[in-house]
Order: sequence, then structure tokens, then C-alpha cells
Amino acid sequence: MSAALTEPAPGPALPTFANVEAAARRIAGVAHRTPVITSRTADALSGASLFFKCENLQRSGAFKFRGAYNAIAALPADGKARGVVAFSSGNHAQAIAYAGNLLGVKTVIVMPADAPALKMEATKGYGGEVVLYDRYRDDREAIGRRLAADRGLAVIPPYDHSDVIAGQGTAALELIEETGPLDALFVCLGGGGLLAGSALSAAARSPGCRVYGVEPEAGNDGQRSFREGKIVTIPVPVSIADGALTTHLGERTFPIIRRDVMDILTVSDAMLVETMRFLLERLKIVVEPTGCLAAAAALNGLVPIAGKRVGVILSGGNVDSRVLARLLG
Ligand SMILES: *Cc1c(COP(=O)(O)O)cnc(C)c1O
Repeated sequence: MSAALTEPAPGPALPTFANVEAAARRIAGVAHRTPVITSRTADALSGASLFFKCENLQRSGAFKFRGAYNAIAALPADGKARGVVAFSSGNHAQAIAYAGNLLGVKTVIVMPADAPALKMEATKGYGGEVVLYDRYRDDREAIGRRLAADRGLAVIPPYDHSDVIAGQGTAALELIEETGPLDALFVCLGGGGLLAGSALSAAARSPGCRVYGVEPEAGNDGQRSFREGKIVTIPVPVSIADGALTTHLGERTFPIIRRDVMDILTVSDAMLVETMRFLLERLKIVVEPTGCLAAAAALNGLVPIAGKRVGVILSGGNVDSRVLARLLG
């Protein structure tokens, strides 16, 4: 068959801002409307007016609660009765377990054996059944899908799912509702659920806002994908940003990011440590390394933002006190 005659396979249906608004209604009164904080020191450093959206203070300690709760709540009754399975390096797992607990839905979590102890314990504490795998050898998606087939569970992936993306978009929606239009918005990037959802909200509620994704330097698959115009897959990156060790963007997140995001930036682990220290000492808040990605880009002037009104999503706060002490010691 001639290549010229084959149509490219149509991609999956993409979520829209209407899905974000539906998610906002579902999570209302359940997810925290997290605070937005400002800091004169941060403004002086960056030369901009920075508005930090504190998802480190969200239920289960990260924005992932939004997407997890929205996705489980959106299941039909028989799907809720059977339960869900998720595979995650941590915060998505915790969020699914917690949301399932609140909604009375059984949850099974497929987690890497080397996931941070705090995240594993929290997942079990919320009532999730934990199944471990080897991050460097096993295919977690295959394990998750086999469990789903065997037990009739619905798979809720950490980012490549319309209800998850829509739920994550509610954080930026709340931020813009509170601050009014923004000139720029910095968002932490792993698989792109938070970035795609944020971009949908920004495009609808703050048109012209320049949205930037920020990922670890060692795991720059998102930046490469954005620049090359196709999803690039990399080996499992090594970084202290344990919530962003994804190897590729999603089939649903990439097209939205390509359409609605200005650029993708990268920051080093050293910058993440300095940003954690700054947020702890100056803003008095604990933010996990991955949660510092966006702030590190804004505070280090990776793109010009002087004089601008800039949103920064602090995406999570789940860090072991021992890890915190080691990183900042
Ligand atoms: C999952 C996670 C991210 C990355 O989110 P994606 O939707 O996968 O891009 C960023 N920060 C924290 C704290 C996370 O848990």
C-alpha cells in the first residue's frame, strides 16, 4: 500500500474547557480551593508580580487529587461498583486512593518498588491496595492493564485521560478567577496533564496568557516533543523531581500542549534545591522538588517576565522530612 494513500490515524477525542468547568462543579466542596500567595522578595527577585497557587496544600498533598476525584466521580455506577486501577510514581496513586476512599470506590495502585516511602505509606493509609513493580525492568502499563482485565477495573492513568486533564485544569481556573487575567503562567510538567488542563483554562479565561511548561533538565522529552512536533520518548530520567520522571507526553496532552502552550523550559536539580530552600525560608511553605519546577523557571528568569503578572503553580508538597533535610542540609 502506498504511504500517500494512508490517512493518519485519528487521535483520541481531546478534552475542552467545558470539561474543565464540569470538573470544577464535580470537585466543588471536596477539593480545597487552595490559597494564592504573593511575596515581595519573590517579586523583587523576578522583577514581576508573581502569584503562587499552593497545590502543595491540596488534599493528598498535590493537585493530582483534582483529576483523580473528577475521573472517579465521572464513572458510571457499574464502573464505580467494580473499582479502579492506577499506575503512578506516587502523587497520582495517593490521590486515587484518597478519592476512591471518599467516593466509596475500591482502588488498586501499581507503584514502583523504589517510590518514596512517604507516598507509599500514604497510599496504603488511604485504603489503596498496592502492587509493586520494578521501574527499570517492568512495564507498569502492562501490569495495570492485566489487573484491569482480570478484575474488571477501570484504568485511570496519571495524565493521558480526558477527565484527569480536565480535573487538573481547575487549579489554573481558580488561580485566574482570583487574580484576573495573567500575562504568563508557569506550570510543572511530567506527562502533561496539569499543563494541558492549565492551558485550556488559560486560553478560555485569560486569552493571550503565555503558558510555559517546566520539566527537569534530565528529562526533557516534553521540550524535544514540542520542538520536533511529535511525541519523543526518552529513557527513564534521573532527577530529584520524582513526580516528573515520565518518559513521554500523552496522546491527549501533547496536541493540547502543542496548540495552547508557548514553550517548554527545563531546570536543573540544583535550581530545584535552591527554589525549595527559597520557598521554605521566605514563603514558609514546604514544596516537593517536582512542585518547584515552575517556580524555579520564574525565579531564575528563564524567559523575560519583568513587569508582568505571572501565575506559578506549586504543584505538590509531598516530601519526606529526611529527604528534605538531606537536600537542604
Ligand atoms: C504528577 C506531578 C507533576 C506532573 O504532572 P503531569 O500532569 O504528569 O505533567 C508535577 N508536580 C507534581 C507534584 C506531581 O505530582
